[in-house]
Amino acid sequence: MISGTVTIATEICKGCELCIVSCPQDSLGLSASINHKGYRFAQLVQNNCTGCTNCALVCPDSAITVYREAKSKRPANMHIASQAA
Ligand code: SF4
Ligand code: SF4
Repeated sequence: MISGTVTIATEICKGCELCIVSCPQDSLGLSASINHKGYRFAQLVQNNCTGCTNCALVCPDSAITVYREAKSKRPANMHIASQAA
């Protein structure tokens, strides 16, 4: 099985949970703390991500970047979200 991981731009996240319900591994959950917008944000809660990219594809704010395990650790799916000024 391919191993992966994700990074989440927590200050962009609005806690809609679309990524959480789309994850077949139940790797994601909402944080207990809030970001500067006042939202609980998505975070990895289990170390079992496969790098399938489902979460990144459904995120309406392009807040998730997925990595698959590789020597170069290249992004499998790169979303560059623009930061609001
Ligand atoms: S890449 Fe796939 S397995 Fe990993 S957190 Fe996202 S939806 Fe879950
Ligand atoms: S889909 Fe995007 S905005 Fe929604 S909770 Fe996940 S990371 Fe946050």
